[in-house]
Amino acid sequence: MNNSKGMKAMKHIDTIAVTDACIMHTYKRIPLVITRGKGIYLWDKSGKRYMDFLGARGAANTGYSNPDVVRALTAQAKKLILVTNDFYTEPQAQLAQMLTRHSFADQVFFCNSGAEANEGALKLARLYSSRKYGTGRYVIVSASNSFHGRTYGTLSATGQKKYQHGFGPLVPGFRYVRFNDTEDMQAALGDDVCAVILEPVQGEGGIYPATQEYLSFVREQTRRKDILLIMDEVQVGLGRTGTLFAYEHYGIQPDMVTIAKSIAGGVPMGALLATRDVAGAFDYGTHGTTFGGSPLAAAAGLAALTSILRHRLPGNAKKIGAAAMKKLAGLKKRYPDAIKDVRGLGLALGVELFDAGLAARVFDECLKNGLIINITNGTIVRFLPPLVITRQQMDTGISLFEKALLTALK
Ligand SMILES: *Cc1c(COP(=O)(O)O)cnc(C)c1O
Repeated sequence: MNNSKGMKAMKHIDTIAVTDACIMHTYKRIPLVITRGKGIYLWDKSGKRYMDFLGARGAANTGYSNPDVVRALTAQAKKLILVTNDFYTEPQAQLAQMLTRHSFADQVFFCNSGAEANEGALKLARLYSSRKYGTGRYVIVSASNSFHGRTYGTLSATGQKKYQHGFGPLVPGFRYVRFNDTEDMQAALGDDVCAVILEPVQGEGGIYPATQEYLSFVREQTRRKDILLIMDEVQVGLGRTGTLFAYEHYGIQPDMVTIAKSIAGGVPMGALLATRDVAGAFDYGTHGTTFGGSPLAAAAGLAALTSILRHRLPGNAKKIGAAAMKKLAGLKKRYPDAIKDVRGLGLALGVELFDAGLAARVFDECLKNGLIINITNGTIVRFLPPLVITRQQMDTGISLFEKALLTALK
């Protein structure tokens, strides 16, 4: 093909039509072509600006095109983008040290996504248990309405039929319990169990925080039986709930924590954090990845984590989340026939509506008014704004949401 002709054709393609023709239809996309982002804002091709309360589903905690992340990426890209894990690199060591200094963990395994981090956690749990106790102790307990990823292992851990339908047979050895139900958990923790995996706040499921009583109980029971407790903080970790890690709210120490989404300011990265005792089961050759912890991703991660800490984004999430929650509770009082519940932790906020049709109309009205929200599980409006949001921006967003709700109710 003639090169200049190819370039010219590229410039004039209809992005939406070509996407729909050439890319598999796994996403129900919002019909906007996004060309730019800054802080909590996104711009489409026509130049229209949107306030983004979807927040890349929790992957934009430090804001779009965070200047610290951009600087780190640019500098690192000029030096070294990738070298395999056959070598040592400075950014990887620095990020690992920082993550362990600011968490319960002693050691880290770097990968490229949330699903991979969870996949690593599931594998490590089984390996730890089989080395210590032999075969037959491999069951992993997870909660109904959970979400842990789309790979076979993590899909099998995900306690929602809608994600699993048609993909069977799944990985054997998973047992589901009702979330926040201590009796159900107790009954599930047999001699064949090696680990429990839970989200501290169920994200995709609709922003359901774990109760204190529940996590205290689960930690106590799992400790007693040397069952590993894995906290999936892929969506709500790294400051969103008001603390750097969500488990900190509950005064418990997990055995493993998985993070991804916001860890590298938007660059693909995941990490599995564990205590030294547990991490020790992953010795030479037991697990690995080509790209995990690449210098480029690690440099971005270092900049993003530094930014989260330096700008006290967890504190901001706590303060603004509390103010938002007050306003949302006010909305629930004003619209008792539309809003069923408001809940959340920090800046992981859920507004449950009574009706899915209404939720869809609210979404459309918000978009018209320049606010991007997310509807999860049909009726739950989910807000995961970047943690760099200001009080005034939050107020504006909630006003736009109320306006949309009013129009949608007409
Ligand atoms: C998004 C998400 C995952 C999967 O992360 P990917 O990077 O999309 O693989 C796993 N767990 C939770 C709680 C998530 O929100």
